[in-house]
Amino acid sequence: MMRKKRNLIYLINFIFLWLLLIYLSFYCNYLNAINNHKRIILQSARSLFHFIVITRNWNARHGGVYVIVNEKTKPNPYLKDPMRDIIVNDKLMLTKINPAYMTRQISEIAQEQNGIKFHITSLNPIRPQNKPTPLETKFLKDFEKGIKEKGTFINNGEDKYFFYMAPLITEESCLKCHEEQGYKVGDIRGGISITVPDNVKISLSSLLIGHVIIGIIGLLIILFSGMKLVIAYEKIRKQALYDNLTEIPNRKYFFDRLYMEYNRCKRYKQPLSIILCDIDDFKSYNDTYGHIQGDKCLKKVARTIKASLRRPGDFCARYGGEEFIVLLPDTSADGAIYLAEKIRYNVEKLRITHKNSPYNVVTLSIGVATKKANMEITAIELIKFADSALYRAKENGKNRIEFCERLDDT
Ligand code: GH3
Ligand code: MG
Ligand code: MG
Repeated sequence: MMRKKRNLIYLINFIFLWLLLIYLSFYCNYLNAINNHKRIILQSARSLFHFIVITRNWNARHGGVYVIVNEKTKPNPYLKDPMRDIIVNDKLMLTKINPAYMTRQISEIAQEQNGIKFHITSLNPIRPQNKPTPLETKFLKDFEKGIKEKGTFINNGEDKYFFYMAPLITEESCLKCHEEQGYKVGDIRGGISITVPDNVKISLSSLLIGHVIIGIIGLLIILFSGMKLVIAYEKIRKQALYDNLTEIPNRKYFFDRLYMEYNRCKRYKQPLSIILCDIDDFKSYNDTYGHIQGDKCLKKVARTIKASLRRPGDFCARYGGEEFIVLLPDTSADGAIYLAEKIRYNVEKLRITHKNSPYNVVTLSIGVATKKANMEITAIELIKFADSALYRAKENGKNRIEFCERLDDT
């Protein structure tokens, strides 16, 4: 029973371990999905930044580009260039677009189409609108300390977005306009911040469904194979401890139990009794009725002995060929003799015909021994006492019980 419970506990632990593994796998995959999402959004912002820098370089290398002046593109009041505007005729006027103005215009288109915002900024801006926000100021100061880029996720309750910023490094082509601010090639002139909406929802359902399915399949396999193992283990254990023919405990099981009960009775100062039974003239029974009939007889006798026991602590086993032994913890000599007589009577009452027996039926000779609480004898000596009593029962005509208190009783 205890072992069964222990096996069940192993199985439950294994199930918990499996569920923990599934949970960890789900959690790792979930973190991985989040990290992948972050990596992709960072990579996108970085690419956008590089693309803007390339277009700005293109513009700067041309010393600015001329575009047609219209409602949306007015001459840039912050561009100090005598060649800023060119009037071609009364219908066509061109104005020079520098990298900063171009970035603003691209930003407007990007915001209209994709919600992406670019902001060109500097700690020392020419155009007042390019003044940095507090976060941009912080990042610009970080860039001056050598940090190459910054990115952070911002959640303002309604919207979630990714805010990315990287520095603008002064190149030769920038000096034409920015030299007067004191910049040299390689200096950090400012930065561009990019705000990318983060409205991608990480789908957990497919991940969850996959893990639930694997979890259930694994659980079924564990339960199925676990139960099979428990049953197989129980079978092997039973085979090791029970007698195949009579299905009552075997000699090994008896001795395990004997030592356990012996120690317990010693500890609690209780008596311990043993009943040793031997079928009378069984060799002649086999010779007369055959081995198969002999086996059937052994089974019936075993069942009868077992059925004669009443108390939960009483224990019977097949001790040898046609010998059975009964262990009676906390049982005095009187109680053991009473039970031995009951067993003898019940077997006789089976009325298994044995024509070569003086009693015409199968009978038992029984030896009883008791270790009183104050007796100093070992468990093996107690069995020897019972054996000696059994010997006396045989000597005195069989189908009877004898009691032995000391070996010199014989
Ligand atoms: P006694 O009254 O003195 O005990 O005589 P006995 O013939 O019962 O004792 P003995 O020791 O001479 O013979 C025991 C017999 O029990 C011999 C053997 O054939 C038989 N036996 C032992 N184990 C088995 C078994 O598993 N099946 C069968 N059918 N017979 C068995
Ligand atoms: Mg015998
Ligand atoms: Mg016998």
